[in-house]
Amino acid sequence: MKLATKKEIEEIKQRFLEHYPDSVTELNYKNLYELLIAVMLSAQCTDKRVNIITPALFKAYPDVSSLAVAELDDVKELIKTCSFFNNKAKNIIKMAQMVIEKYNGEIPLDEKELVKLPGVGQKTANVVMIEYTGANLMAVDTHVFRVAHRLGLSKAKTVTETEKDLVEKFKTDLHRLHQAMVLFGRYICTAKNPKCDKDCFLTDLCKSKESFKAK
Ligand code: SF4
Repeated sequence: MKLATKKEIEEIKQRFLEHYPDSVTELNYKNLYELLIAVMLSAQCTDKRVNIITPALFKAYPDVSSLAVAELDDVKELIKTCSFFNNKAKNIIKMAQMVIEKYNGEIPLDEKELVKLPGVGQKTANVVMIEYTGANLMAVDTHVFRVAHRLGLSKAKTVTETEKDLVEKFKTDLHRLHQAMVLFGRYICTAKNPKCDKDCFLTDLCKSKESFKAK
């Protein structure tokens, strides 16, 4: 597969920004605490499912102090329809405890600090920063990874390397491009049966379209 040229990269970027002018996450949240938990729960789980779970969870535990002293089984019960709920329940409680112990009860708004919290990886930290502060960061999830490869923006085998490629190539507006690529991957450039001839606005720039043609 060929990589996109500089000119093509610029064109892809412009089209993403035009088509998704103010794309934001589909996760529902009211503050940093809710956003962080929603993003943690969304790993390997759909945003829709997370949005069904969180209202009751946030009602029972409206802040880090209440979550830090929560009973593990109660939290498990509230999030049991989410994938990997056992680990996620443990992690969100531990995360809340660490915020209380090490950060005076304030979730740190810095990706280098966020990754120190239990259950918070680089991707979760970046997504939180992108969403909450509009930070110029890229986060690569399954959608961004697929779209980046299909468009020839990266040949990298890992998410970390793909993130590097996208940061180098796009340079600016990374937060908006991140959200745009997530939505584009979720609804248009889907894993199976991408909508190449129906909804895609990047067909002329795509490096993989041919492989999706009916044979
Ligand atoms: S043409 Fe198809 S594979 Fe290529 S970016 Fe568009 S939807 Fe994805």
